[in-house]
Amino acid sequence: MSEKDFEIVCAKIEDKKEFLNSISQEIWKMPELNYKEVQAHAVLTCALKRCGFQVQKHYFMPTAFRAEFCPKKVSGPTVAILLEYDALPEIGHACGHNLIAEAGLAAAIAVKAAMEEDADLKGKLVVMGTPAEEGGGGKIRLLELGAFEGIDSAMMVHPAKITNFFPRTLCNVRYSVQYKGKEAHAGACPWEGRNALDAAVSCYLNIAQLRQHLKPSWKIQAIITKGGTIPNIIPSAAEMEVHLRTPTRNELKVLRTRAEACFTSAATATGCEVQFRYDEANAYENLITNKVLANIFKEYAERLGLNRRPGEGEATFFGSTDMGNISHVVPAIHCFYSIPSDGINHTRCFTEASGAPEAQPNTLLIGKVLAMTTLKVFKSPEVLEEVKKQFEKDITDE
Ligand SMILES: [Zn+2]
Ligand SMILES: [Zn+2]
Repeated sequence: MSEKDFEIVCAKIEDKKEFLNSISQEIWKMPELNYKEVQAHAVLTCALKRCGFQVQKHYFMPTAFRAEFCPKKVSGPTVAILLEYDALPEIGHACGHNLIAEAGLAAAIAVKAAMEEDADLKGKLVVMGTPAEEGGGGKIRLLELGAFEGIDSAMMVHPAKITNFFPRTLCNVRYSVQYKGKEAHAGACPWEGRNALDAAVSCYLNIAQLRQHLKPSWKIQAIITKGGTIPNIIPSAAEMEVHLRTPTRNELKVLRTRAEACFTSAATATGCEVQFRYDEANAYENLITNKVLANIFKEYAERLGLNRRPGEGEATFFGSTDMGNISHVVPAIHCFYSIPSDGINHTRCFTEASGAPEAQPNTLLIGKVLAMTTLKVFKSPEVLEEVKKQFEKDITDE
C-alpha cells in the first residue's frame, strides 16, 4: 500500500465520521437479537448502497447481506470484511457489535475510495453482514450455505476493554439437560416423589466440584432454567443449560466426557431420569489468528498510535466466536481493540461504552487499520501467498 493510499484511507474515514457514527448509533439504539436484526440489516444495506456497493440483501438468510466492490474486472484476491450487529437479551449492545458494523463499514468505504484512485490495487472487496454471533452461529450457517466460497481471507475487528491483535478464543459447545422425576404432595407424602430439582442442584454441585480439576483455560458454566412451580409439589421436571469451553477440539472431547458424567450421576443419585442434548450445529471453534495478516494489521495500528497496553498478554483468552469456524476454513483475523469502559463485554457498563462518543476515536482508527490491511493484500500478490502458507501450516498444526 502506498503513502497515497494511506492518505486516502485516513481522509475518507475522517470525512465520513459523522455518517459512520450515525449508523452505529441507529443500531445501538435498537438492539436486536439473533436472526432478528431487521433494522440493522436495513440500515447497513442502505448505507452500502448509497456508498456505491452492489448489495445483495437477505443473503442466504433474512438478516444477512453481501455487498461487493470490484472496480476493474481484473483478477485479484477476494477479501471479505465481516460485520456483526446483533445484541444481547436485556442488556442491549453489551458486546459492541454496533461498533463492529461501524468499523467494517468505515474500512469498506475507505478501501473503495483507494481502489478508485489507484490502478495498482487489484481485487474484489466483499462486505459480509453476518447475523447472530451471540449464540446463534450465523457465520456457521453462512459457511455451510457456501457464502465463503471464493473468499481468500476474512477479517473483522471487535471492541473490548483491551487491545489484542493475536487473540485466542475458545471452542464453545452448549448442552441442554432435562431431568424427569415424579411429582408428589410435598407435605403429605414426599417419599412417593422423585425430585427433579434435586437432580439439577446435584448436577450443578458436581460441576462446581469438577472445576477444581480443570485446566485454567477450560470453562464450564451452568444455569437452572426450570426447577418447579410451587414448593408444595415435589418438582417432576427440571432443566439446565450448560456451556463448555476449551482452547482446542481435543480438550473439548475430554471435558465433554467429564461433564456428561456430572449430568448422569445426578440422575442416579436422585432416582430421576436424564436426557441431554449437545447442540452440535452451534458448536463454535477456537479462533486461528493468521499471523501474517495480524502482523500487517499490528504494523498499521501502531503507525496510527494504537498499541497494546503493558500487561496485556498475547495468550489471553476472550470467550468464543463463530469467527473461529471461519478461521478453520479461510485465513482470518478477528482483532480486538480497546474502547474506554468501566466494565468488560457482556455487562451494562460495556453497553454504555459502546454507545458513547468516547468509543468513536478508536473505532474509526481501527476501521482505517482494517482498510489498510485489506489494501496491502490487494497491492502485493506475494502477501496473499504468505497468508495462505501460514494458514496451511496452522491447520496442519491444529
Ligand atoms: Zn459477545
Ligand atoms: Zn461480540
